[in-house]
Amino acid sequence: MSRSSLFRFALQARDGQARAGTFTTPHGDVRTPAFMPVGTQGTVKGLVMEEVADLGAEIVLANTYHLYLRPGHELVHRLGGLHAFMRWDGPLLTDSGGYQVFSMAPIREVRDDGVVFKSHLDGSSHTFTPESVVDIQRSLGADVVMAFDECAPGGADHAHAREANRRTLAWLHRCKARFEELEGMGGYPAQTLFPIVQGNVYEDLRLEHARRIRDAGNWEGVAIGGLSVGEAKEDMWRVLDLLDGELPPDVPRYLMGVGYPDDLLEAIARGYDLFDCVAPTRNARHGTAWTSEEGQVNLKAARFRDDTRPMDPWCDCGTCARYDRAYLRHLVVAGEWLAVRLLSVHNLRFVVRLAEEARSHIVAGDFHAWSRDWLERYENGGPR
Ligand SMILES: [Zn+2]
Repeated sequence: MSRSSLFRFALQARDGQARAGTFTTPHGDVRTPAFMPVGTQGTVKGLVMEEVADLGAEIVLANTYHLYLRPGHELVHRLGGLHAFMRWDGPLLTDSGGYQVFSMAPIREVRDDGVVFKSHLDGSSHTFTPESVVDIQRSLGADVVMAFDECAPGGADHAHAREANRRTLAWLHRCKARFEELEGMGGYPAQTLFPIVQGNVYEDLRLEHARRIRDAGNWEGVAIGGLSVGEAKEDMWRVLDLLDGELPPDVPRYLMGVGYPDDLLEAIARGYDLFDCVAPTRNARHGTAWTSEEGQVNLKAARFRDDTRPMDPWCDCGTCARYDRAYLRHLVVAGEWLAVRLLSVHNLRFVVRLAEEARSHIVAGDFHAWSRDWLERYENGGPR
């Protein structure tokens, strides 16, 4: 792949394995480590994009699978691309659809040339190939597009995971060829293609896949998929430690689907830079919030009935500035929409800010002591 000058990654500081960097894209800079809010359907559920920007988010993720099915990538392209469609001028990443196809769409057939699946919306039959997934993401126009991968389920046996790796690598070569073909034709915004390292919890498969992917192109970023899918935490940390020496050192590393506060700090400590997770907004829909001294709490608990403290006294979000736990609990129990909005603002700010704070402590050189104290307070601070 020709290395475009429009995408750059500069490391500002290291503290142990933890890194503070800046990922430059055509739509702006992303200071890393960074949490990416998930805009599944071209919306971070319940929030307007100005609010998402105000929360400090510098890059947002959208889902290829969902936007392909509805409203359709060709329509989005005709309307000016996904940035214009969803009114987000900042850096944008689309996933490949691989994870959704393998986790939520009834699969008809997995073949070497692609996957035949049924839409979860209307049961209609569709085929994703490495080429079509690149075409769809070119139409959507995000800054970062992801290679099509087979994400073997958590708990898959070694043979299954090995087969998924083989297919994912073959698909990567085809994604890259298609990406370069379209790039040569012009007419699209500048984009970069990230490969995805798979291999479940199997050390030999992870190492081999990482090496082969590293050798397959001059990548401007690399993703690690297939973690946080039900494996033990120790297995995830073991794989991340293992991969550290095998990944290209000078590009951002995106750990897909990881973003609970404690996991974020553990992964940052191991040298990973970009994260996404649906938990901030999904938890908000279930009345669940993160606090720095009580960990994750659910506002339905009776102890919040007359609790006049903010959701988290250390948080600087608009929800915590204005509302108390008693009112938020009332909204949750009453099933009010405002509860979801206010808790989404809080949860997103909580994790975006955690990445910001991690960055400043990496720069200051005291990340590991700060992180240890933060985790201890988060995990042991108070009653649940
Ligand atoms: Zn807050």
